[in-house]
Amino acid sequence: MHLTTNALVLREVNYKESDKILTLLTEQEGKLTVSARGCRKKGSPIAAACQLLAWAEFTLYEFNGLWSVKETASERLFEGVRGDLEKVTLASYFAEVTEALAEEGQPEPGLLAMALNSLHALDKLNVPLNQVKAAFEWRSMALAGYEPQIARCAVCGRVQPREPHIHLGEGMVHCASCRDKLEEGVSMPLTAGALAALRHIVWGPRKRLLSFRVDEEGLRRLSEASEAYLMTRLERGFRTLDFYKSITYKPTRAQP
Ligand SMILES: [Zn+2]
Repeated sequence: MHLTTNALVLREVNYKESDKILTLLTEQEGKLTVSARGCRKKGSPIAAACQLLAWAEFTLYEFNGLWSVKETASERLFEGVRGDLEKVTLASYFAEVTEALAEEGQPEPGLLAMALNSLHALDKLNVPLNQVKAAFEWRSMALAGYEPQIARCAVCGRVQPREPHIHLGEGMVHCASCRDKLEEGVSMPLTAGALAALRHIVWGPRKRLLSFRVDEEGLRRLSEASEAYLMTRLERGFRTLDFYKSITYKPTRAQP
């Protein structure tokens, strides 16, 4: 059986002397594991497409339940991402999260579009990396069925909660003073601006996902809460995120 489909490479593992095993998120069949024979040989015509974070048209064939890459065409390699350590690390984290959220053999058009938009933003748009990261994390959680309840304080119903926080386990926003009416667990502080940005990310049109403005403190809180929420919901960490944080960590200056 043959299949020609566009796909994004979410993971690559070297195999034998010149092969790779790839995890693809394909347009037509969702997540697929495929072998790419000979793609590490010098001059291999499929080499460019068979690397992490490549987007390309793949012609695949299946034999005895195993998929292999036959041909590839029209690669987009996001060169601006590959040449920058922080960007490529963040993009690898997006790939790792997308792989964790996607189901085998089931098309995931929302997740695929999210991943591609985020890679495009890192490649071509001049948006702070933490803004791309927070938008990716919140929106992908919503796509995966973990949309947080952000319309009003979960306790008193105030549309603009006072000193807004988000309860990670419950996925609910609330006022600081309403905290003790909720279950135990961690709540993280937002700002009014961060909550407005969160509403834009979760409720807004996908194509305008990144068109929000928030001040530096709001963005920091939005991003800290998004990764904590994602790890709480998925009950796991991500080695690519740990690495991203290790290279972007900037110690706060001690107060005089
Ligand atoms: Zn309240």
